[in-house]
Amino acid sequence: MNQAVFPTPDTFTRARSAELFETAKTYFPGGVHSPVRAFKSVQGPPVFFEKGEGCHLYDVDNQKFVDFCCSWGPLILGHCPPSVVQRVQDTVAKGMSFGTPTPHDNLIGKLLLDNHRYIEMIRFVSSGTEAVMSALRLARGITGKSKVIKFDGCYHGHVDSLLVKAGSGLVTFGISTSAGIPESFANETIVVPLADPEALETALRLHAGDTACVIIEPVPANNGLLLQDRSFLEFLRRKCTEYGVLLIFDEVISGFRVGFEGATGHYDIQPDIITFGKIIGGGMPVGAYAASRAIMENIAPVGPVYQAGTLSANPVAMAAGFATLSELLKPGFYESLEQKTAAFTGRLQAFCDQRGYDVTFPHIGSIFWPTFTHNRIRRSDEIDGSRMSFFKTMHLECLKRGVYFGPSGYEVGFVSAAHRESDLDFAAEMICQSLNVVFGG
Ligand SMILES: *Cc1c(COP(=O)(O)O)cnc(C)c1O
Repeated sequence: MNQAVFPTPDTFTRARSAELFETAKTYFPGGVHSPVRAFKSVQGPPVFFEKGEGCHLYDVDNQKFVDFCCSWGPLILGHCPPSVVQRVQDTVAKGMSFGTPTPHDNLIGKLLLDNHRYIEMIRFVSSGTEAVMSALRLARGITGKSKVIKFDGCYHGHVDSLLVKAGSGLVTFGISTSAGIPESFANETIVVPLADPEALETALRLHAGDTACVIIEPVPANNGLLLQDRSFLEFLRRKCTEYGVLLIFDEVISGFRVGFEGATGHYDIQPDIITFGKIIGGGMPVGAYAASRAIMENIAPVGPVYQAGTLSANPVAMAAGFATLSELLKPGFYESLEQKTAAFTGRLQAFCDQRGYDVTFPHIGSIFWPTFTHNRIRRSDEIDGSRMSFFKTMHLECLKRGVYFGPSGYEVGFVSAAHRESDLDFAAEMICQSLNVVFGG
């Protein structure tokens, strides 16, 4: 096989990817195992990748790309970081799963609890969705109440009662966004807009008596990057305490991303329960939920809230998580990642401003969102869906030049520790060229 190279608009091909996709569609619904992978919001068939190394992805057509999707967030160290690969290989050689406690449990447990000031105990599960589902059960088990308040524009995995959107009005019962969700489940969820203290207070005033918890992504990053004011998050914390409702920070995407202590540490706000996923498994399927000892001791076998898992905390996944988290604790890790991201987005912003292109790059830590407006966006209803056509063109043009973004304008990009200055220089140049095509400049 020839050495893989970055494609150019003249050489770019998806011939082999397209072939594989046609076959995959006969095996799997839509050819995929998670809907966004099907490239429905962008052009052409999905690219099939077979190798990742550092910040680069290699596809089945022998092309190379700078990766800003990073498996949707877990790969904060990039692909195949040597210390993680080594530890996984050593572990896997001794057995993949025992269904018993193992010493790996204690290793990662100590690492987490020694370095995260807002949690005292943790339980591992196998995905972010499972973490959220379990955290909701815990909140309901403790309070004996059933309703949940969520925010429009926050994603919490495919948990039945949370796959809902707002109806018309400021404070509404959820309307399910998927078939197969009983109305009675959707009715357990109250949906309020982000960045709206009045709507939140109204929801609590009307429903606190039946409500177990409020759940939020403190850094909402699944529907664009809807950065909230600190004052709103502080208000949320205060009101949950005042109304006797538990507060869950869903940090599946922000955890270990905006600092080791995630958004919780960034804003220095103590939630009652935190959910984790993505980075915590270093690329393996891991989720977790954590809280104070008093709250966590409500979980079986100590307490009455049942939750279990055949493959929970399996040694290989714990090894990947442990090795990944260990790297994050090295001095200067987050500072350097944040500086790189700020310089990269700053360069893109300067280019767009100079050309008069209506694009901004809101960012926090190493998360950024290319968005086709100059307005600051804090709520999902402030996103102009019609402008997603700009993203669609940008996505294709970037692909043709060797830069890979997640295939939707509602998805954020990630910079990893493996992105070197030279990689970011190359990517910035290619993104600028792509934006010239988008705006006909
Ligand atoms: C990704 C994500 C989830 C779902 O995690 P899965 O591992 O995909 O089940 C839940 N909440 C947030 C905030 C996420 O970013």
